[in-house]
Amino acid sequence: EKNILFIRGSMILFLICVTIQIHFSISSIPSSLETLPVEGHFNYDEVSHAAKDFGNRYQHHPVAVLHPKSVSDIAITIKHIWQMGPRSQLKVAARGHGHSLQGQAQAHRGIVINMESLKGPEMQVYTGNFPYVDVSGGELWINILNESLKYGLAPRSWTDYLHLTVGGTLSNAGISGQAFRHGPQISNVRQLEVVTGKGKVVNCSEEQNGELFHSVLGGLGQFGIITRARIILEPAPAMVKWIRVLYADFSTFARDQENLISAEENTFDYIEGFVIINRTGLLNNWRSSFNPQDPVQASKFNSDGRTLYCLELAKYSNLEETSALNQDIKNLLSHLSYIPSTLFLSEVTYLEFLDRVHVSEVKLRSKGLWEIPHPWLNLFIPKSKIHNFAGEVFGNILTETSNGPILIYPVNKSKWNNRTSVIIPEEDIFYLVAILTSAFPSSTGSDGLEHILTQNKRILEFCETAKLGVKQYLPYYTTQEEWRTHFGQQWEAFLQRKISYDPLAILAPGQRIFSKSN
Ligand code: FAD
Repeated sequence: EKNILFIRGSMILFLICVTIQIHFSISSIPSSLETLPVEGHFNYDEVSHAAKDFGNRYQHHPVAVLHPKSVSDIAITIKHIWQMGPRSQLKVAARGHGHSLQGQAQAHRGIVINMESLKGPEMQVYTGNFPYVDVSGGELWINILNESLKYGLAPRSWTDYLHLTVGGTLSNAGISGQAFRHGPQISNVRQLEVVTGKGKVVNCSEEQNGELFHSVLGGLGQFGIITRARIILEPAPAMVKWIRVLYADFSTFARDQENLISAEENTFDYIEGFVIINRTGLLNNWRSSFNPQDPVQASKFNSDGRTLYCLELAKYSNLEETSALNQDIKNLLSHLSYIPSTLFLSEVTYLEFLDRVHVSEVKLRSKGLWEIPHPWLNLFIPKSKIHNFAGEVFGNILTETSNGPILIYPVNKSKWNNRTSVIIPEEDIFYLVAILTSAFPSSTGSDGLEHILTQNKRILEFCETAKLGVKQYLPYYTTQEEWRTHFGQQWEAFLQRKISYDPLAILAPGQRIFSKSN
């Protein structure tokens, strides 16, 4: 009995000590940060914004948010934590626009760096034979587009939505309908300035500090904070011919997509696609209310309970070449096997085309449907397995009306640099399938969070048992074992990069790949 009492007593004492230690280490954080000579400021009270993201499912509150005014603010802060060594549990997350899905830009009881506060260096466009723009890592792509258009230029590779930061998309890949030709955004960067996990500011490119450059691109924020990027520009078109056509048969749809992205020359400038599942009742008589001048209408096509596939294309144009361009488009379309009565075509400005998703955002926000949970699932699927995937997922699992778009389009692996950190399938062509569902937290039906998460799990389980060689894009795992599987043969290289650039695992804890004690 004495022994039991002694053990109990020791345990209580131990717990008290741990609690006091945690309490003191947390409460001493603000005072230790306050001594740092930063030009910007730390905020300790208004931190709840940094615990939110687009996914609306995870909320981890930091102890402080740094609003940096300069790169050195970021370097000083990280160096301070690095010098505290492993005894400090403090971690740091760069937060771009917070459009992650599962807390990837959050730092539980750590420091969040609000990258949008970093205004310098001023955005600068360089014209000439190989034009580029230098931007801050916290810059939004929409601002880059607006600035470079003033010079008749624009970046070549995009995401579908432009209210995301450079640092946020370069930490993943940045993919849209131009990726088949130009590769993802990480293939369209010349130089970076990075603050490593030791607080060192390093310039890097293919030629200079190449290992850090490639590590950071697609590196999920694990190796450094991107504070500046040099982005390749090209002459911007004035207008865009925006086209949507429908297919009833997946094989024909996929064959046309693959032929289009494989054409060496004359093809479209943008190639994507999406799935329309069992859409009924939206328009009672689609013919009377349908406007063939408006490609948006293609997604409202009444499919009479069937699943349809919509191929989305764009051809860029300058005003003087209209008639030749129309002939070109006619010719390209003549090689496709879509349902002939389903050609939706319109002409919009380049800016309108690239910023098209923002229009939906404004509509959804006005109805209170933007800030709801988004249990999205993004997958890369090898070309040889896409029919298998489509048969099961669109034929058996997702058979009800989907609550959000399902994008599907192929890209060419040759446009991806295999030295970057992003993980993609082995084959020369692979598909992005993005199941972009919104959920209603209180619903217990098919639009409820639980139902959608179960559906996502079924899809992932199917991919695994059918051995499709699928990789997650914007990956999310909860154990290191799962991360090892995700990286496969690249795990050792990823780990070595972590040891080189962030050995104390200070950076991007919300990705849950490494913990500080590893
Ligand atoms: P955050 O969510 O703030 O950060 C993402 C990760 O990057 C975090 O781990 C964070 O710590 C890290 N990070 C942020 N800034 C930096 C930095 N400067 N240096 C180092 N690490 C940093 N993706 C596509 O590829 N194609 C699409 O078409 C596409 N469409 C989207 C549409 C919508 C509506 C949304 C919400 C997302 C979309 N995405 C798309 C996904 C998007 O690219 C990623 O979620 C991206 O990370 C969001 O950028 P962000 O600035 O909000 O990053």
